[in-house]
Amino acid sequence: MTQGKECSQESNHWFGEEIPPGTSRNVSLAVGESYSGMTLQIQIHIRRAAAEGPILFVTAALHGDEINGCGAIRHIIQDNSLQLERGTLLLVPVLNLPAFDRHSRYLPDRRDLNRSFPGDAKGSLASRMAHTIFHELVTHCDYGIDLHTAAVRRTNYPTVRGDLSNPDVKKLAHAFGTEIILNTKGPRNSFRREACKAGCPTIIMEGGEVWKLEPVIVETAVRGIKNVLRDLRMISDPTEHPRYQITLEHSKWIRAEHGGFLDFHIRPGDIVEKNQPLATNTTILGEPQGTLLAPFNGVVIGMSSLPAVSPGEPVCNLGKLPSQYNPAKLKTLRTTDESLEQRVLDELGTSVLVIEPSTES
Ligand SMILES: [Zn+2]
Repeated sequence: MTQGKECSQESNHWFGEEIPPGTSRNVSLAVGESYSGMTLQIQIHIRRAAAEGPILFVTAALHGDEINGCGAIRHIIQDNSLQLERGTLLLVPVLNLPAFDRHSRYLPDRRDLNRSFPGDAKGSLASRMAHTIFHELVTHCDYGIDLHTAAVRRTNYPTVRGDLSNPDVKKLAHAFGTEIILNTKGPRNSFRREACKAGCPTIIMEGGEVWKLEPVIVETAVRGIKNVLRDLRMISDPTEHPRYQITLEHSKWIRAEHGGFLDFHIRPGDIVEKNQPLATNTTILGEPQGTLLAPFNGVVIGMSSLPAVSPGEPVCNLGKLPSQYNPAKLKTLRTTDESLEQRVLDELGTSVLVIEPSTES
């Protein structure tokens, strides 16, 4: 970064261990106790360069069932060719250990850890855990990347989300290098929103589905982490960027109007024009009972992977394209392209059956 925030003084002591510059260590952070009284310890890989520099955390499985990011972080940890030239990298493949152990989004007290920050040392189970993570990890870091997927029964085209009114978040978001960036602050008490408030600019990446390591999503996350490291001048590897980047200010969940079975007309990541058919709701026997149309020019940033819906259930999350973008022109940029983005589109498209809309009115 040419002109970023002031970076913290790096400490040689992390989570009770001495980790001198130029060394790497696996450490653990106790965040609670299990029902059988075992100490719950988050596993953290710390890598320090010989030279001073920014302190960056990368976390995954804050929602315990969202494990694509675990794959990306494990890949970075095992990548001995990654030469850290300055600063400190904290890699946390599984942040929400009790939820991960249950293959669940939620903690055993049914709370969402990602709505519990900055936490309270005397509060609920979720709040205590959030407090420990926040004070032992986040407040010692200069920047953060948190990796997520869509919730159950949905999939997401990879997007970075962040509060772009914060110039450091904006730089991180562009550096990460997804095609689509969503300008959002994040829910109240979410990890990234509170981290930003506490002076640690943090972005999230959303991509793919729960309970899976999807190769193209893992690859997108690895590329993004390396792009950020390069931008912070922590490594000198070349960056890889998408063919274009678009920042979206608004998105809208398009919801089913009838109970029934959806014929999808779009795939995750598709660019659509206003009034383009998104999905036709049919009876179990296949009789059409209404087609959902795009209310604006947009990008399919998320969609249901389960075609059976009731009224009000989400069908697709459409990001609104700013008026300066011509959807037809953007689509032409995607043809005969062997980029990672094209492979993501092709791969995510295999999880939905796309049927051409009927031309009959
Ligand atoms: Zn999540």
